[in-house]
Amino acid sequence: EETKSLNFIEQIVEDDLANGLDKSKLRFRFPPEPNGYLHIGHAASICLNFGLGLRYNAPVNLRFDDTNPAKEEQEYVDAIKNDVQWLGFKWDQVLYSSDYFQQLYDWTIDLINDGKAYVDEQSSEEIREQKGTPTSPGTNSPYRDRPISENLELFQKMKDGAFDEGAVVLRAKIDMQHNNMHMRDPILYRVLKKSHHRTGDDWCIYPMYDWTHGESDYLEQISHSFCTLEFKSHRELYDWYLDQVVDSEKIRPKQREFARRNLSYTVMSKRKLLQLVESGAVNGWDDPRMPTISGLRRRGYTPESIVNFSKISGIAKRDSITDVALLEFCIRDYLNKIAPRVMAVLDPLKIVITNYPEDKEEFVDANYNDYEEGFGSRAVPFSREIYIEKEDFREEANKKFFRLKLGGEVRLKNTYIIKANEVIKDSEGNIIEVHCTYDEDSKSGSGTEASKRKVKGTLHWVSIKHAEKVEVRLYDRLFTDEAPDGHKERDFKDFINPNSLAIGTAFVEPSLKNSEVGDKFQFQRKGYFCVDTDSNTDKLIFNKTVGLKDSFAK
Ligand code: ATP
Ligand code: MG
Ligand code: MG
Repeated sequence: EETKSLNFIEQIVEDDLANGLDKSKLRFRFPPEPNGYLHIGHAASICLNFGLGLRYNAPVNLRFDDTNPAKEEQEYVDAIKNDVQWLGFKWDQVLYSSDYFQQLYDWTIDLINDGKAYVDEQSSEEIREQKGTPTSPGTNSPYRDRPISENLELFQKMKDGAFDEGAVVLRAKIDMQHNNMHMRDPILYRVLKKSHHRTGDDWCIYPMYDWTHGESDYLEQISHSFCTLEFKSHRELYDWYLDQVVDSEKIRPKQREFARRNLSYTVMSKRKLLQLVESGAVNGWDDPRMPTISGLRRRGYTPESIVNFSKISGIAKRDSITDVALLEFCIRDYLNKIAPRVMAVLDPLKIVITNYPEDKEEFVDANYNDYEEGFGSRAVPFSREIYIEKEDFREEANKKFFRLKLGGEVRLKNTYIIKANEVIKDSEGNIIEVHCTYDEDSKSGSGTEASKRKVKGTLHWVSIKHAEKVEVRLYDRLFTDEAPDGHKERDFKDFINPNSLAIGTAFVEPSLKNSEVGDKFQFQRKGYFCVDTDSNTDKLIFNKTVGLKDSFAK
């Protein structure tokens, strides 16, 4: 039963165990580059790797792949740690590729001594031209056959800072005719005169990703190194590099690839997300419109909903785009189970209940959830003047309009039935208030005949004098196109939706006054909302997380 639900990556591990791999040797890693915040695509990799850790009770390292000092920062390291923990996962160790710079350097000296690496003084354009194409072989660099002693000397000079950036590189000497382009004398080291967020100015040469990744996996004795499909063609090089260092007594890491998770109506690369942040298209990495973990958290997503999304969308062999509606389904489904139901009016219309005494106020007991036990209830104040939604009233309407119309009745949620008698308009003909009368005997739960009276339509409302005025932030998709980065001729930023954020005012019941950042509610009939991090004691701000309707089923 259980094996049926395994994805193909889990099946690889399962097969290795069946073929004799010792279960105690299993070890995984999640290897982000700290050059941006994690996004929902990373969540797939996190859930996969940490999920395997949980499944086999095996350690999972959080390894920062920090070999490019130009783009990496401590801020990103901190944010990544925070996000992984928030998702609910525990790593065994936090490690950094930069911890291995000395070991990589020592191995590199061995490569040079074995005649397997050389210093190339050509420009990057020359090197690129010599690389050939997938269908035509490359040509050898004129520096390829330098004597070992000269390579050692030049590499030392590289390390000592004698060369400018771009002037020289160290390359592995593999095969310029190889049918795999990655095997055509790949670069091992380049000069970068930049401070590293951890090693400072200790180094001015930095190892390339390919030379670093597999060796880091090996040093940590990772049994399975799972990465995304674009690295499939690198696997041969990953293995070649391992061949240079692996000791047969030890675990030899196995690289296997799975498809990246893409989501409709957004982009999912840190580089592109950084452009959105830097151009001001969004208000930071944690803008609630961003597909980042921090943006989703601020929007009101929970770890459970993101983990469930990862589970449902699965691990694929081929690239595809997952419908963002599935992500929305996951958070709606979760919030439906946990969010207290409260009343908030987003677009107010004043109702005056003319037969309700002016000085009177009363409190109605309202369940936080009418259908589930355990949510409790609160007292909601009611008085002569209330707000309902503008769209819930019409002067005239047909029989299918089950809300309030002139001469008609509705029940106010948790309390009385009211009848609309008169419309008050301003000089331009806009309705500014509606005068109603209430049926004094109709209060919900009072047990009277009138309280059981069936009227079509129940409206949410708030008492004007008790209501709290708050800001609401309503979000639309950040992009107008399903695959904004899928257009050859156009930049993804051309598809930014200019109306992705609408800021409005709402009136909420006073029970929400003391809400704290992150608190989540269902605003009845309006959607799920959570308290934004911009809130302060003077002003509550709510983000709309998601609407009530499921558009995924369509
Ligand atoms: P980006 O282009 O967003 O920076 P990346 O692959 O360069 O992506 P890394 O920080 O290197 O980002 O990713 C860490 C791990 O997460 C890698 O193993 C990578 O393959 C995986 N990963 C990144 N993006 C996705 C995605 N969209 N779907 C699944 N896994 C992903
Ligand atoms: Mg990467
Ligand atoms: Mg990247």
